Amino acid sequence: MTKREADADTVSKTIDLLSGQGLKARTVQWNDRILVVTGKNPSRDILDQLQKSAITDRLVISHESAQLASKEFQNDGSIIRVGRDEIGATKIVTIAGPCSVESSEQVMETARAIKKAGASILRGGVFKPRTSPYDFQGIGETGLQILAKARAETGLPVVTEVLEPSKVELAAKYADMLQIGARNVQNFSLLRAVGKSGKPVLLKRGMMTTIDEWLQAAEYMLLEGNRNVVLCERGIRTFEKATRNTLDLSAVPVLKNRTHLPVIVDPSHATGRTDLIAPMARAAIAAGADGLMIEVHPNPEKALSDSSQQLKPQEFAKLMEELEPVARSVGRSMC
Ligand code: PEP
Ligand code: MN
Repeated sequence: MTKREADADTVSKTIDLLSGQGLKARTVQWNDRILVVTGKNPSRDILDQLQKSAITDRLVISHESAQLASKEFQNDGSIIRVGRDEIGATKIVTIAGPCSVESSEQVMETARAIKKAGASILRGGVFKPRTSPYDFQGIGETGLQILAKARAETGLPVVTEVLEPSKVELAAKYADMLQIGARNVQNFSLLRAVGKSGKPVLLKRGMMTTIDEWLQAAEYMLLEGNRNVVLCERGIRTFEKATRNTLDLSAVPVLKNRTHLPVIVDPSHATGRTDLIAPMARAAIAAGADGLMIEVHPNPEKALSDSSQQLKPQEFAKLMEELEPVARSVGRSMC
């Protein structure tokens, strides 16, 4: 990390020094500082030269492949602001809403109900990553307008998934946070585009992504200077068929030891079953998650996607009440 007063010339000299060693160095704007980042650590000799250099403020030798995401780079947990809420602070931030935006009435009814129950962020997909091309694909920009209307009425910030780089600008115009779904966690051009947007990002774990790969996906966005990345565990694919995916709750404490980025858990997509959402939400909070993502629909049986896992508004409200003592038991709160 360079000193505040470091100018372009001295930074480029540092890059030259590293390039001379065959290291690919790049710069990242990090608040009022410039980071000079190399994928591999320089030799002892170069490190000594950098240490003594007048422009170096802090030298981080990282043992992680995702350096900027690592606790070696930043030990204090990142706090990501979305609307008035902070993900990674004491409060468990709950993101709730339908799988897909279907109509204005559906979203408005859900938004009012989840707000009353204490949720912090409204979710709703308008670009849907469906396994079958014959399934409902989302209503696109009309859906973004509906989400914006729900935000205007309830004050809840909104998060929505974006599937392709060419739609990032459009989604960013309406949403407060952009979601990268499980299927796109290693879509590197999308990661870069969402990173560049500067918007808070909800980065879901891929169903076949290791924790290492997931952190490196986050690193793509951090390297664009976007520090607002939140990780979301949503289950991985295993041999088990009783649940839609297998919720890897141990990922939460593993990540808490390795990264400063906040971690939330999505028991809806992880289990695919309404009866498992409450126990897995309780377990997620107990394991140290900073938040939850829960699908809520006014009429789940009629939902155009994920009908078997969405809670009714009154079930969601009951769950939020039940979670309060669990949150308190680990020094946190639900609202
Ligand atoms: C979603 O949250 O709408 C979604 C599609 O989830 P995932 O990417 O985790 O499958
Ligand atoms: Mn869904």
